[in-house]
Amino acid sequence: MKTQVISSHISDVLALFREHGELSRTDVIEISGLSRSTVNQRLTSLHEAGLITPVGGGESTGGRPSSRFAFALDRAVILAADIGASGFTVAVCDLAGTPLREANRTVNVWEGPERVLQDVVDCFEELRGTAIVWGVGVGVPGPVEFKAGRVVNPPIMTGWDRFDIAGWFGSRYRVPVVVENDANARAVAEARLSGSDNLISLKLGTGIGSGLFFNGQIVRGNDGAAGDIGHTRAVLGDEASLLPCQCGNVGCVEAYAGGWALTRDLLALDMEVAGVADIVRLVRQGNIDASRLVRQAGRVLGDAVADLVSILNPAQIVISGQLAECEEVLLSGIRERIYQRTSPLATRNLRLHTSDLGEFVGVTGLALITVDRILDTDSIDATLSSHAGDVPSPGAAAVAGLG
Ligand SMILES: [Zn+2]
Repeated sequence: MKTQVISSHISDVLALFREHGELSRTDVIEISGLSRSTVNQRLTSLHEAGLITPVGGGESTGGRPSSRFAFALDRAVILAADIGASGFTVAVCDLAGTPLREANRTVNVWEGPERVLQDVVDCFEELRGTAIVWGVGVGVPGPVEFKAGRVVNPPIMTGWDRFDIAGWFGSRYRVPVVVENDANARAVAEARLSGSDNLISLKLGTGIGSGLFFNGQIVRGNDGAAGDIGHTRAVLGDEASLLPCQCGNVGCVEAYAGGWALTRDLLALDMEVAGVADIVRLVRQGNIDASRLVRQAGRVLGDAVADLVSILNPAQIVISGQLAECEEVLLSGIRERIYQRTSPLATRNLRLHTSDLGEFVGVTGLALITVDRILDTDSIDATLSSHAGDVPSPGAAAVAGLG
């Protein structure tokens, strides 16, 4: 195995198990480059905290102590809520981000934070059972000031500007709360599960979100506003008019390619459309007007994404959100413009595809980001001390084997 340069901090040793899965003591020594005594100390602490568990039956084979360990995914759970403009998905996730129990609700985000978040909490309470909760992750379809846990001037979330989402959940659950832009959360899930360090996630629903994940981390920019391609200027023909956008500007990509814009255009054609679900239904039925508009939306998106591809050279562009259910009708327009407008080198290894994680990509990413936060170098001590009372008693044989 390749040696990684890590500090001897307990969180860095734990991170090896989160990244590599099951490891022996020797594996940890080889990968980390740390001394045997340091590794033994860290493994003992992690085992006592219930964060790693012996594997491979070491304890039961004639009293021989286990020397292989794995991250204890079931040590606690994360409550995750992926909130969209017209509904949300909530899940109880294990510490690897895998949803254990989940639910969907229809909700109108314009009803405001108090109403929507209370619905989320009601769902959390139905799902969590007796599980020990270590953190809450909340995704929203708008720009997020990450450190403060607030949305700032969200175009499709009227009434949510600067609402203290983290504080609202924190007062109810008394655990760390992470608030994240929904497309960023999706980018993290896609990157971790595909092992890709450079990708763009596009969430296409009522609005347009994009998450940039490069060199192994979310690209946030200075204030958390990076990557908001929905409100960059659309590339339009000479005769096209500049349509007003929900952000207050004109001519934005979202004003031509967002779900709300497509709904507007289909209503103008006297079609019965209430939102993105109806657009998907019409496209699947082969409706000519809906298919034409979605294909054209794909081209507008493709022009915007092409610039990102030229600037950032991603390995993947992963599409999720309800509009992604239009599949090839949408993807063909995106693909056409990307390949027209970028250099062969930038697209040589590029994969453009819809998410394999389906509707749970958002909650998975939120759980992973929340686990990162509570188990990082700055937080792991506080996390462990606040949950010291619920630690499972470590097996004596396993601990003895670490000496
Ligand atoms: Zn706009």
